[in-house]
Amino acid sequence: MQVISSAFEQLGLIPPLVATVAELGYSKPTPVQEQAIPLVLSGRDLMAGAQTGTGKTAAFALPILQRLVPFASPSASPARHPVRALVLTPTRELAVQVAESFRDYGAKLPLRSTVIYGGVDMNAQIDQLRKGVEVVVATPGRLLDHVQNKTVMFNQLSVLVLDEADRMLDMGFLPDIKRIIALLPRERQNLLFSATFPDEIRTLAKTLLRNPAELQIAARNAVADLVTHVMHPVAREKKRELLSYLIQTRGLRQVLVFTGTRIGANRLAHQLRRDHIHADAIHGDKSQAEREAALADFKSGKTTVLVATDVASRGLDIEGLPQVINFDVPHSPEDYVHRIGRTGRAGMTGEAISLVSPQDHDAVAAIERLIKKRIERVLIPNFGPSGPSVATMMGDQPSHKDRERRRSPSSGPKRQVDPIFSKPYEPAAPTATPIPAANQEAPQAKRKRPQLAALLGGLKKAS
Ligand code: AMP
Repeated sequence: MQVISSAFEQLGLIPPLVATVAELGYSKPTPVQEQAIPLVLSGRDLMAGAQTGTGKTAAFALPILQRLVPFASPSASPARHPVRALVLTPTRELAVQVAESFRDYGAKLPLRSTVIYGGVDMNAQIDQLRKGVEVVVATPGRLLDHVQNKTVMFNQLSVLVLDEADRMLDMGFLPDIKRIIALLPRERQNLLFSATFPDEIRTLAKTLLRNPAELQIAARNAVADLVTHVMHPVAREKKRELLSYLIQTRGLRQVLVFTGTRIGANRLAHQLRRDHIHADAIHGDKSQAEREAALADFKSGKTTVLVATDVASRGLDIEGLPQVINFDVPHSPEDYVHRIGRTGRAGMTGEAISLVSPQDHDAVAAIERLIKKRIERVLIPNFGPSGPSVATMMGDQPSHKDRERRRSPSSGPKRQVDPIFSKPYEPAAPTATPIPAANQEAPQAKRKRPQLAALLGGLKKAS
């Protein structure tokens, strides 16, 4: 226990916080915590490249709580509990998780926190705000509703966090964020966390941050080493069948499956249920209660497969998820990284499986460019696509010799491998995803933005 405490203590955290993280079983700080905690404690602004899964929430929540301790009051009076820290997040799920983190990390401190998001009645939130809270975690749209209602005030605010800033940008929240920032006291600490740094985020950072410390947590190192990636080339129309086959033959018990659209998620969950697989979908069209129920059933093992869209999956923290399957390959390579961040956590091994069709060729190339490694292709007998696309999908240029060989009736596809894998597909990457420079984003990711924003229209409205 002594060793456990000291690593966090050395970062400057006070005993109640050190004791709390020890109770939570954190044996040592993650890289982002190691670097960010002393900086945030010192009061500096911070721009951090860090993704979900790196421990970034504790990296800002722990030092913020510590900085608020001198203002903590035992009084029940709401006036003694003004909002002092605001965390903006892109999705309700992430807001809930960040708020839970503040609650857990602050368990031994007399500080209050609450979460504000759309899609639910405002009254319970108003009650919470009226009682007085030091920390508010919110999605931007609903927070502005409260501003308009005059149910939240920021005159005592001293810390602002933008969490997953790139995703907030993707979701069209930038104008809302700017409106919120304009309402805050000028003298404050600003912390910006983002997985990627497109130009708009850099511009925002320039206006928002004062002499910021910059951190780039290039990897979920431990995670990356534990995740194996594989792609199964498959004819598009056979994807669903292959998914059921993999789940059933491999006896998969807890799988997060990603689709590109909400309709696709619903349809796939329905089809899987017809194949007698316990499946549910989680996406922006579902009510908050439905989403929470779906997640709870998945976590408890009642549901084998949770089919999710990218947005619904943001911030989902399911410890030790063994498999993540990309039913639809994401158009944005960053989404691939976010998706696989759901597996290989907490020291467990994880598997990222992608079902790829000829149409996905460009998206696959962009993913491999971003993660700087080639993902192994494994053909499942009877499911591979036919024709010349096979060689291209296997990552080969279809040479004349290949074409000749394929013409021979005795020759099968390049490799046929039994789907019951006994060992990892390939040695893990030495490090995980580097944070791409602003202008390195794949063109298809850029093209996707408006589409994604439109897709998320419902979510945004609800937030
Ligand atoms: P985050 O990147 O903030 O979403 O955190 C990912 C997960 O890592 C959460 O489940 C945290 O509880 C967990 N976590 C955060 N810091 C540590 C740590 N130092 N040691 C072990 N687990 C941690």
